[in-house]
Amino acid sequence: MKFQVCSLVMIGLVAGCGTQQTTSTDPVDSVDRPTPVGAAPVQRNTEPAPVVATAPPPQPAAQSVAKIAPQTQFEPTTHPKTKSPEKIVKTDAEWRAILSPEEYRILRQKGTERAFTGKYDHHFKEGTYTCKGCGTALFDSTPKDNSGCGWPAGFKAKENTIDEKVDRSYGMIRTEITCKKCDGHLGHVFDDGPNPTGVRYCVNSASMGFIPAEDEKQAKPAPKPNK
Ligand SMILES: [Zn+2]
Repeated sequence: MKFQVCSLVMIGLVAGCGTQQTTSTDPVDSVDRPTPVGAAPVQRNTEPAPVVATAPPPQPAAQSVAKIAPQTQFEPTTHPKTKSPEKIVKTDAEWRAILSPEEYRILRQKGTERAFTGKYDHHFKEGTYTCKGCGTALFDSTPKDNSGCGWPAGFKAKENTIDEKVDRSYGMIRTEITCKKCDGHLGHVFDDGPNPTGVRYCVNSASMGFIPAEDEKQAKPAPKPNK
């Protein structure tokens, strides 16, 4: 009898173990099945999310770089200097010393002389108009004509002597012209000039000097005897 009881207990234990094993594996399988299907897309969705969430932090970093940017922005200004190494740079006091008050006001402070008052407004002698600030030859008198606008006009500037930039002052959009060598303000250029250039340089007389053709002719033969 004792042996039979023990055998029944053993069977019961084995059966109990079997049921415990089966019941323990079922929940594991049921948990494992949904997790790879349901969790995987969630993880994929959350992966890009941190990337978007981390995007704002770089912005303050970019702002901090922008604060440093002015230092690097000075570098491009050196490029024009490399293109025109002969650029003339003077202090404010140095410009005042070599220019008259009117010339300084126009060349260095972007002033404009009153219409019909400039000494070259009705000036038709043959020669070359130069920058009053640095002496660079800007216009030949040949294409110069009386535009009637109140300021001397040139229709063809000498090559690589004039810079142009947008001028939005006084509620107008004009194109300012400056001397490429000394950055002196000359006037403005308009696109209503005659053929073949189609442009009209409206220049302040005070911004310019003039070398008569006679003087140029006398100056040119001089080097020949030296040779
Ligand atoms: Zn100049």
